[in-house]
Amino acid sequence: MLDTTSRNSEPEHRPYGGIRSKPKRIAVIGAGMAGITCARTLMQAGHDVTVFEKQPEASGRTSVVHSVCGTYDVGAQYFTVRDARFQKALDTVPGLCRAWSVNTVRVLDEAGRVVAAAPPPGERHWVATPAMDALVKTWAQPIIDKGRLVTNTTISAIERDVVSPEQWQLRAQLPDGGNSVHAGFDTVLLAVPAPLAQAIQGEHRTLWEEELAKVEPRPAGR
Ligand SMILES: Cc1cc2nc3c(=O)[nH]c(=O)nc-3n(C[C@H](O)[C@H](O)[C@H](O)COP(=O)(O)OP(=O)(O)OC[C@H]3O[C@@H](n4cnc5c(N)ncnc54)[C@H](O)[C@@H]3O)c2cc1C
Repeated sequence: MLDTTSRNSEPEHRPYGGIRSKPKRIAVIGAGMAGITCARTLMQAGHDVTVFEKQPEASGRTSVVHSVCGTYDVGAQYFTVRDARFQKALDTVPGLCRAWSVNTVRVLDEAGRVVAAAPPPGERHWVATPAMDALVKTWAQPIIDKGRLVTNTTISAIERDVVSPEQWQLRAQLPDGGNSVHAGFDTVLLAVPAPLAQAIQGEHRTLWEEELAKVEPRPAGR
C-alpha cells in the first residue's frame, strides 16, 4: 500500500470508531474478493474509496461464464471457512452461500467395484448462489451504488500527482485504446495477483517491486 501521511491537524473523524486520522482518499486496484472486502471496510471506517477494475464487473477469480451450455466457474469452484473473520463476513449475507459436496474421483474394476477413491474432504465446502460470483458482487453492491466501482479500466501506472505531489495519481488504459488519469489519492492499495502488480509501472515502482518479488504464487487449494 502506498501512503502519504497527512501533515495537517484537521479534527479526527471516527464514524465507526475505527479511524484515527482524517478520512483519506483511497484507490483500490482490483475488484476481486480482496479488493472489494478491503474497499468496504475502508468505506465503513469513513474513508473516500474508489475501486478500479479492468474487467466489466467485480468478481476476479470467482467469476463465472454464462454460455448456451450452462454456467461454469472460471476460478474458485468452492471455498472453505477457516477464519472466524471470514465467517463473520459471510454472516453479513445470510442464505447467499450453501454447503456443497463434490463427487470425488473413484476407480472401478470391471465388475463396478470401487478399487481406489480419493478420501472425503476433511472440511465443509461452500459455494455462493446462484453462481460463484454472487458473493463478491453482493459485497460490491454498496460500492457500485455509490458510483465508486470504475470498471473496464486497467491501471497501468502509479505516479505522484502532478497537481498535488504529496498524493498519487493512476494512469489507466481503456478498452477503446484511450487513456485516463485519476488523481488526488492519499493511498493506493494493490489488490491484484503479484505478477499483475509487477506489470504496473511507475517511478516509485521500487516501493512495491521488492516486496512483490518475495511472493510465491501457489496453485489453488493448497
Ligand atoms: C482455476 C481456479 C480455481 C480455484 N479454486 C479455488 C477453490 O476451490 N477454493 C478457493 O478458496 N480458492 C480457489 N481459487 C483461488 C481464489 O479464486 C482466489 O484466491 C481469490 O478469488 C483471489 O481473490 P483476490 O481478490 O485476491 O484476487 P483476484 O480475484 O484475482 O482479483 C484481482 C482483480 O484485479 C483485477 N486487475 C488485475 N490487474 C489489474 C489492473 N492493472 N488494473 C485494474 N484491475 C486489475 C482483475 O481483473 C481481478 O478482478 C481458485 C483460483 C483459480 C484460478
